[in-house]
Amino acid sequence: MRINVLGVGFDNMTVEQAVAEGVRLMSTEGAHYAATPNPEIVEVCREDEDARAAVNGADLVLADGIGIIYGAKMLGTPLKGRVTGIGFAQSLMARMAESGKTLFLLGAKPGVAEKAAGNLQRQYPGLRIAGTHDGYFQEDGPVIEAIRESGADVVFVCLGAPKQEKWMRKNGEATGAHLLVGLGGCLDVFSGEVQRAPEAFQKLGLEWLHRLAKNPSRIGRMMKLPMFLVHVAGEKGRK
Ligand code: UDP
Repeated sequence: MRINVLGVGFDNMTVEQAVAEGVRLMSTEGAHYAATPNPEIVEVCREDEDARAAVNGADLVLADGIGIIYGAKMLGTPLKGRVTGIGFAQSLMARMAESGKTLFLLGAKPGVAEKAAGNLQRQYPGLRIAGTHDGYFQEDGPVIEAIRESGADVVFVCLGAPKQEKWMRKNGEATGAHLLVGLGGCLDVFSGEVQRAPEAFQKLGLEWLHRLAKNPSRIGRMMKLPMFLVHVAGEKGRK
């Protein structure tokens, strides 16, 4: 049973449980996909029915962001904890390096995915990168073909939300991969183009503050966070 936070159903899992499920899915016939929504995405899903269907249609919906944890708690249905997209991805790559599963990196500006691939192969010896493609393409067909030809087991889809969730829902099956994971700006971090927040910020759930300080133009998007809390409070009042 998923925990409903303003219309988005979250899997109630620890990081270990989420990774175990991801590993199971990547070895299971058929296409599966995972989403890692934060409060900003939940707010988008309230207004965009396709986005909501794409997120809720995922085989794994993980609570990325401390706001989701607060929201679930306020609603009286606490989640076991936060599972950040980046942490989930890192654990999956460690397991893939052991098992020989192959990874395709899709998204970000031209050159970023290749740079990320080089760094990740150094960080996870044995990790097999099947291919890369930037995220600024006009037609899905050639990208799907590139993934299919690469024979990748797993695809990290980093097109930003909710574009990536809609893309995975529509095209996941055609790629031939078993697991697609929507990971927003992760390739920018893996490539070294963008620095992840220092550990102290991560532990306090303040990564969003670090991102805002580095990139103040995000303020418009981040105003969705207080709105999310207002909506959670309203929902709580109705219960
Ligand atoms: N992006 C992309 N194609 C697009 C739009 C965005 O590949 O059409 C990439 C963008 O370059 C960035 C990522 O998607 O690497 C989105 O990053 P952001 O930090 O906005 O995502 P979040 O993690 O907040 O969802």
